[in-house]
Amino acid sequence: MNKHVIQEPARNTPIVHETDVLVVGSGPGGLAAAIAAARCGVSVALLERFGCFGGNITVVGVEGFAWYRHEQTIEAGGIGREFEDKAKAMGAAVPESQSLSYELDSEGFKVVADQLVLDAGIHPMLHRHFVAPIMDGNHVIGVIVESKSGREAILAKRIIDATGDADVAHRAGAATIKTPVEEMQAASVMFHLAGVDKAKFMSGVQANPQTYKDWSTGEWVVETDGKEDDMFSPFLGKPFEQAIKEGVIPAHLNTIGGTWGAVHDSGEMTYMNLIHLAECDGTDPDSLTKFEIEGRRQAMHAIEALKAFTPGCTDARLRNFGMSIGIRDTRKIDAIYNLKEKDVRNEARFDDTIGIYPEFIDGYGVLIIPTTGRYMHIPYRCMLPKDVGNLVVAGRAIGGDKIAHAATRNMACCAVVGQGAGVASAISIQDGCALNDVEIKKVQQKLISQGVRIH
Ligand SMILES: Cc1cc2nc3c(=O)[nH]c(=O)nc-3n(C[C@H](O)[C@H](O)[C@H](O)COP(=O)(O)OP(=O)(O)OC[C@H]3O[C@@H](n4cnc5c(N)ncnc54)[C@H](O)[C@@H]3O)c2cc1C
Repeated sequence: MNKHVIQEPARNTPIVHETDVLVVGSGPGGLAAAIAAARCGVSVALLERFGCFGGNITVVGVEGFAWYRHEQTIEAGGIGREFEDKAKAMGAAVPESQSLSYELDSEGFKVVADQLVLDAGIHPMLHRHFVAPIMDGNHVIGVIVESKSGREAILAKRIIDATGDADVAHRAGAATIKTPVEEMQAASVMFHLAGVDKAKFMSGVQANPQTYKDWSTGEWVVETDGKEDDMFSPFLGKPFEQAIKEGVIPAHLNTIGGTWGAVHDSGEMTYMNLIHLAECDGTDPDSLTKFEIEGRRQAMHAIEALKAFTPGCTDARLRNFGMSIGIRDTRKIDAIYNLKEKDVRNEARFDDTIGIYPEFIDGYGVLIIPTTGRYMHIPYRCMLPKDVGNLVVAGRAIGGDKIAHAATRNMACCAVVGQGAGVASAISIQDGCALNDVEIKKVQQKLISQGVRIH
């Protein structure tokens, strides 16, 4: 017997719920998927390990939902747009500083998401961690969750994996591709501040405006199209350079720098995206533990630097960290079609499009902003794992290479993918066909009727 393994006894697990569509994970991908499926008239349950829906928006504090939007940007619309509109209507969004979009309030969006879930008639299942698929051959027919009640089973006709990390697909035996840890996009511990003097801070920004060109300083080199270079960016780099020069923060922390989100009259400055943690593996709890602690340590250094060297921040203090470290990049499915760099850079067109996404690429050293009206199609096949049935993936874990991921990982794109996954799942149940055989024209028609631009 291997000393490092124990054998767990077999057990009976209660079935606590049965549904047509089960969505695992409630970020922009999962939330959109659940709403879209429910609006097709099937029963839907939305499962989430934490106590709120919204994924990175609410859990990590990622508030910039569509910060790429400019006059000529062409977008899919649909449920992603609804997230912004509903948040605005419920007082949970403010105009975003660099674009024509609204910045979501990460706390307020918890209530917005609750409302969207309840209005759609979705069965909410918070505080349950997916731990294993229930398989019938190579088909997923349900999931096992762990909660304060122990282990529970949930059965479903179709499962949407919106965990971000392709947890369900991976454990169901589907081929997944994990970026090598030394190449993964950095993780971030996000934080929000209180006690900022908004007027003084904004005067400082106006006196010393930053652009996307400033992203290429110190540690970072960012490729742009050129058209981005002189555009305003809410970037903070100089306070940290100065803090290192004057010994306020240690010299090796030269990766601190990035963007601020919203600054409120009440003195709160939110969505502080300043800490970048290389080689954090979001699928390894030891790695997550190490970088949660390291990220908080670095954030406190960042706050010291802001207090010392940023106008309006002298009396700033930590308001809160995100509920979890933010992970950008882990597993992706090896899908029937994996999106390619050439697709996202060249306005790809696909017959099985389920929505469009503007030419917005942000990651792996590339920043392209859709100021010109260019956009690509998102093909249905990039959500379908090759070898497992009844399962479709929504959100950042769809199939694609690194630069494709730098486009599709963005939250508004995750929502487009989610809406497509939700509608396809519902139609495959209603038509009694497998997810791979669903009539794509019907899916497209339904998406159009739900307000999505697909061409
Ligand atoms: C620090 C940071 C800043 C970013 N900035 C931006 C930005 O400005 N704009 C932008 O568009 N994008 C940004 N992104 C990217 C974007 O936030 C993500 O790519 C996007 O949220 C992915 O959406 P998703 O629905 O696939 O997954 P997520 O938003 O990660 O949601 C997944 C959900 O699944 C749940 N879950 C996971 N595993 C399980 C399980 N086993 N059981 C039950 N539930 C589970 C999680 O708790 C979570 O709620 C940023 C990301 C990070 C980390």
